[in-house]
Amino acid sequence: MDIVFSKVEHRYMEGTPFEKVAIKDFSITIPSGSFTAVIGHTGSGKSTFIQHINGLLRPFAGSVKVGKYEIKAGEKKVDLKELRKRVGLVFQYPEHQLFEETVEKDICFGPINFGLPKDKAIRRAKELLPLVGLKEDILSASPFQLSGGQMRRVAIAGVLAVQPSVLVLDEPAASLDPEGRDQMMKLFYDYHQTNDTTTVLVTHHMEDAAKYADQIIVLHNGSVEMVGGRELIFEQAARLNEIGLDLPKPVRFLQSIKEKFGLEEVPMHFDTKG
Ligand code: ADP
Repeated sequence: MDIVFSKVEHRYMEGTPFEKVAIKDFSITIPSGSFTAVIGHTGSGKSTFIQHINGLLRPFAGSVKVGKYEIKAGEKKVDLKELRKRVGLVFQYPEHQLFEETVEKDICFGPINFGLPKDKAIRRAKELLPLVGLKEDILSASPFQLSGGQMRRVAIAGVLAVQPSVLVLDEPAASLDPEGRDQMMKLFYDYHQTNDTTTVLVTHHMEDAAKYADQIIVLHNGSVEMVGGRELIFEQAARLNEIGLDLPKPVRFLQSIKEKFGLEEVPMHFDTKG
């Protein structure tokens, strides 16, 4: 499903002295089936942006279209159930989303809530476990007896169990060590490839953006600063640095050579998929 933002604005604490325009004049298209990374410094509007994709936040101006579902500013009645079924959101620290007595109930909560019979929901949960790196005997455990890593995997299985067409990931690998982060990113990338999902990843890690994304959106002070393919990280390195983003090591290295020798272009081949 294409996601189209047209001139979206969102404000917090409206009408108070603390009113804050978090995103403004925000127009962007995320093509169906793409893997899009959203990068930007803290406070640039990333969370505000992605929470509009499943209607958690509503636009103050403009409109948000996700496939055939459209949310326009000023609309009072919007049926969000169908939209929420289509858009899965994995927050930072998804393990905080767990609440049921057993892992099975937690994973099955979404699909059952959206009308899937219990036996089918359980079958789906069982199919998902190996994908998120868990074994079947975990189903009867309480989520709260598990390790942090296992809890996170259960929470992610719960989101995938709804079989969303759009998967929105807000720093899903936050606080994991590099190996754990790689495993987590690979899980989402494989899922994206297998299911043809439209994936939107918010990340601080430019390496992940360069490695997995086919579209990169850079936010700065609540606006879209630039949009492009992976090559944007190399071509726009100086500007990205200027707006406070940490460049991946190879790009930093090439940047330093460029500056040292006053070169316009650095001949390079950087295979980001490798
Ligand atoms: P990011 O995810 O890039 O860190 P956010 O979307 O969280 O950015 O924030 C964008 C701006 O909106 C920031 O200035 C932030 O302080 C402000 N903001 C975010 N959430 C709230 C809130 N609940 N109340 C008031 N201001 C907020």
